[in-house]
Amino acid sequence: KRPGLAKDPGSESTPGMDPFADTLQRLREAFISGRTRPAEFRATQLKGLSCFLRENKQLLQEALAQDLHKAAFHSDISELIICQNEVDLALRNLCTWMKDEPVAKNLITQLDSTFIRREPFGLVLILSPWNYPLNLSLVPLVGALAAGNCVVLKPSEISKNTGKVLAKVLPRYLDQSCFAVVLGGPEETGQLLEHEFDYIFFTGTPRVGKIVMAAAAKHLTPVTLELGGKNPCYVDDNCDPQTVANRVAFFRCFNAGQTCVAPDYVLCSPEMQARLVPALQNAITRFYGDDPQSSPNLGRIISQKHFQRLRGLLSCGRVVIGGQSDESDLYIAPTVLVDVQETDPVMQEEIFGPILPIVNVRSLGQAIDFINRREKPLALYAFSNNSQVMNQMLDRTSSGNFVGNEGFTYMSLTSLPFGGVGKSGMGRYHGKFSFDTFSHHRACLLSHSGLEVLKNIRYPPYSDYTQKL
Ligand code: NAD
Repeated sequence: KRPGLAKDPGSESTPGMDPFADTLQRLREAFISGRTRPAEFRATQLKGLSCFLRENKQLLQEALAQDLHKAAFHSDISELIICQNEVDLALRNLCTWMKDEPVAKNLITQLDSTFIRREPFGLVLILSPWNYPLNLSLVPLVGALAAGNCVVLKPSEISKNTGKVLAKVLPRYLDQSCFAVVLGGPEETGQLLEHEFDYIFFTGTPRVGKIVMAAAAKHLTPVTLELGGKNPCYVDDNCDPQTVANRVAFFRCFNAGQTCVAPDYVLCSPEMQARLVPALQNAITRFYGDDPQSSPNLGRIISQKHFQRLRGLLSCGRVVIGGQSDESDLYIAPTVLVDVQETDPVMQEEIFGPILPIVNVRSLGQAIDFINRREKPLALYAFSNNSQVMNQMLDRTSSGNFVGNEGFTYMSLTSLPFGGVGKSGMGRYHGKFSFDTFSHHRACLLSHSGLEVLKNIRYPPYSDYTQKL
């Protein structure tokens, strides 16, 4: 195998051999040589990434359509454009971000130079999931390259078409002595994780997040974990039901509901539920027609395993919208469930499909209690025209991200940090936050060899201390 090439997607490794050792050794040596540190080198990699996105747009759209039935527009707004914006921002700001940051001094360091230097960690591992396979591979990659690291990217084996494009085509645009894409599933990832990295960036389920964190702990490797969970969506009685329904249905069904930040369930009063259900039906019909299965704008479930899991959830509570499924097409209809109990499976696990349960609460306080009794979510949505209600929800709960009267459009902002809290993850990225995540913040003080007379006071013996002053 030629050094620097991604592992052949179809190739089998020899039993007993470590398939990653050579690649990792090569990347580590490249990092030690210092070649990834200069701004020019980093900018060249980012420009390569930008060319990859532009020159392979159609190939990527096709791969995303094969993997997830994504419409081209959908792929553009949630994957390609987001990646391109991140690359452009990093290229525009690289030199500013790399500048040493001067910090305040005290009396005894007045004559010194004190600053924070952002330096690359070294060899970084990025593990990505299948639901936004391009976005969640390349957005972290932008940060890692901008910060001057060598990178191993391991996309999900489940979004295999996008993974193949990343493995076969992307390395041609980057310096292969410093960057590699490897393919594989849990077994290969397990082998990879036995190696020592300087930073691991993982996006996926909390279950695998624990495996990654345990493996990282063996080497004391720092991690970012971008995980999932159940995102509550509170709807106040004073809202216009159709406006809420349009927004909730759109963001729930985007990518067939397979979005980590999608509103997972609605909390509202029985009165609001009675107004919301017909409004949701209206929105779903408007977006996907009378037969959503024939709509080109609705995605499909990624695998048989997830399809079976979701079909099982359709029996929770009472179906008031949708409920249909077709195994041969991995299709689950946009579905709304009512009369759902807190103990039902649909309220125990992250849904990750186009199914929206509605749970009744009698008051804002009850909704806040409901949210606070559960794990801290990645995103929390609140719909209300009353700023006091909005502020109470914001003040009395915790979540990775908080959104009032909207869906996950904040994901397109590079100015907001993105990440979870508690079981929904640790660490943050996007824009400058990505650069900071992949940089060690080195505390620096440069003093002078002269002026010894001023430093004399600190040296023992201290018996004549007052005479030194
Ligand atoms: P996953 O945890 O199954 O897989 C993620 C990565 O881990 C993949 O690269 C996979 O190959 C690898 N992996 C899987 N099993 C492994 C094992 N046993 N040992 C080592 N590695 C293993 O996640 P997924 O199903 O691909 O993605 C869906 C999940 O990701 C959802 O929970 C979703 O909420 C979450 N997610 C979070 C974010 C976020 O930004 N917070 C974004 C997207 C998805």
